[in-house]
Amino acid sequence: DVPEPTAKHLEVLQTYFGHTQFRPMQWKIIYSIVEQKRDNCVIMATGYGKSLCYQYPAVYSEGLTIVISPLISLMEDQVLSLEVANINACMLGSAQTSKSETINNIFSGVYRLVYLTPEFCAGEGGQRLLQDMIKKIDITLVAIDEAHCVSQWGHDFRSSYRKLGKLRKLFSKVPFLALTATATPEIRRDICASLYLKSPTVTCTGFDRPNLYLAVEFKGTDIFNDISRHTVRVGNRLKFEGPTIIYCPTKKLTEKVCQVLKANGIICDYYNAALSLKVRKKVHEDFVKDRIQCVVATVAFGMGIDKPDVRCVIHYGAPKDIEAYYQEIGRAGRDGLQSHCHCYYSSADFSVSWHFLSNLTGEFRAHREDMIRRMEKYLETRECRRKLLLSHFEGEEGRTAKKELSKICCDNCTRMYLNKDRIEVGGMLSTDGTYNFAPDAKLLLGAVQYFGGKFGLMVPIMFLRGSKNKRVREDSYSHHLYGAGKNKGEPWWKAIGRLLLREGYLEEGATNSFHGGFKHNKFPVVTTSLSKKGEEFLSSLLKHSDGI
Ligand code: ADP
Repeated sequence: DVPEPTAKHLEVLQTYFGHTQFRPMQWKIIYSIVEQKRDNCVIMATGYGKSLCYQYPAVYSEGLTIVISPLISLMEDQVLSLEVANINACMLGSAQTSKSETINNIFSGVYRLVYLTPEFCAGEGGQRLLQDMIKKIDITLVAIDEAHCVSQWGHDFRSSYRKLGKLRKLFSKVPFLALTATATPEIRRDICASLYLKSPTVTCTGFDRPNLYLAVEFKGTDIFNDISRHTVRVGNRLKFEGPTIIYCPTKKLTEKVCQVLKANGIICDYYNAALSLKVRKKVHEDFVKDRIQCVVATVAFGMGIDKPDVRCVIHYGAPKDIEAYYQEIGRAGRDGLQSHCHCYYSSADFSVSWHFLSNLTGEFRAHREDMIRRMEKYLETRECRRKLLLSHFEGEEGRTAKKELSKICCDNCTRMYLNKDRIEVGGMLSTDGTYNFAPDAKLLLGAVQYFGGKFGLMVPIMFLRGSKNKRVREDSYSHHLYGAGKNKGEPWWKAIGRLLLREGYLEEGATNSFHGGFKHNKFPVVTTSLSKKGEEFLSSLLKHSDGI
């Protein structure tokens, strides 16, 4: 049983980190470190607040905390933000020059935290430094970030992480903390065993990211046609609905997709391992600082992306496996706001993944095969995708019961609730607590019908959202549907619209006639209207309108 934090605990939290409360799991972990000096293995969903778990003990306990982290860019970001908070920290990596001043400062007690790369720890200089530290200074904690890198079962395996096991013997009296955002039960066991954690407290926050909407589609024949669905037109430019990452399976494809987007006026860039470090840094920075809207990248664009407001992660081609996929979509919506994860694939995509297996054997090969199969299953399933994803991490039982799953779940759940039988269950929320999309479908279909199929989806959506845009004529303001959907954002309505199109409730046509104010439009106007199915659906809903 963990007692409540004391006034002193909370004061330190407020003064240095500006938070008024610990999140429940954070406090449990921090208490076990600072008061019980225990080892911990922490699996925490992205965005929950892992860094506080080692930064807080560092500040509270006054000794030195060692943080091992795989990426220089991650360390730089953290050191910088700690400095802003008046917490002294430094970093040492193998490639770094002028180490001696930093080392002197470490021994004179200047820093609360020192960040080290695993390669540095394994090297001769690193080993000497660590031995010295043990003798001369009080160490509060050794934290190992991205701890899944120790495991060969994972997709981010690094041999230098494996060598960190030696540290446990060296720092025999210091609590260890291993942290990761992704770990199946096997990897979890592997982390505890290879780091020699001493009867560790294992904490897992669960893996659900309720603000991520999941959807999958077959790749079409035209790149732009697929990807432009995630854009909105502003004047005569196309823009993504927010910062967007598009993952492609090959370097060549990143260039191609980027070229197609640029040709259509989208401000974007591509990123892959063939580019020089300088160029990669620039693309990364341009993205973080919102100078470009979208990065088209291979998975090389990864761990260090500390951008909380990524609104959309698109995979253009099947992801490598289910764990890689979870990690990649984890970069969306770290600020907790609604974000989209959309995957386009073709069955041929998997031949590459299988090809890479050809020189593996035994248990390890079987494991990789299983990971690929699970990815295939995720893409092909007609059941809830979130449930399938979570069952991989939480075991088949799944601790996140369906009723706890977020309302805005995945394309399959959306589809299921558009099914007429389900709609007659009635109520905003259906019996098992998932979101019933029928009322929203009714609003959007009604709005499209009102405009008589003369426009695309944007005008009906603006109308529903009560927009004063001049494309929504003033005489429509008195219609009962005007503003009826303003409690939901444009991306939401566009997603409902796409779904209704895909499921054949709406259909598209093209016209070359330009509408008022749209003279500069170089593209033919795509119009949207109700299909026969949509009309039948709407009239049946109106008959049962008391049900919804
Ligand atoms: P992770 O590494 O788990 O993705 P971070 O350590 O980057 O998460 O923290 C995610 C966000 O949550 C940060 O913006 C951080 O300031 C915020 N945060 C962390 N702990 C708390 C807390 N106790 N109260 C409020 N906000 C918090």
